[in-house]
Amino acid sequence: MKNVPVRMCVACRQKMPKTSLIRAVRTPEGNIMLDFTGKAAGRGAYLCDNADCVKKLSRGKLLGKVFKVPVPDEIYREMERAYEGRKQGS
Ligand SMILES: [Zn+2]
Repeated sequence: MKNVPVRMCVACRQKMPKTSLIRAVRTPEGNIMLDFTGKAAGRGAYLCDNADCVKKLSRGKLLGKVFKVPVPDEIYREMERAYEGRKQGS
């Protein structure tokens, strides 16, 4: 079995294989978004691929803490929409 890298979910703080997490990224331009490819440039944070953790992220304003910049509510709403949209689109 391959050794899959493990990352901690910033919402529930469980350690999970990287492949079952989604990445949030703060790009060098300062945009914050969900990075479904896992390849966007910038600083990343990981969270479980489930709606609960996506919501926890916005409720606790957790990305502001991770990225050390203020993250407006609108950004979190945008991320929730992107997450829901991906679920429906696939
Ligand atoms: Zn989680």
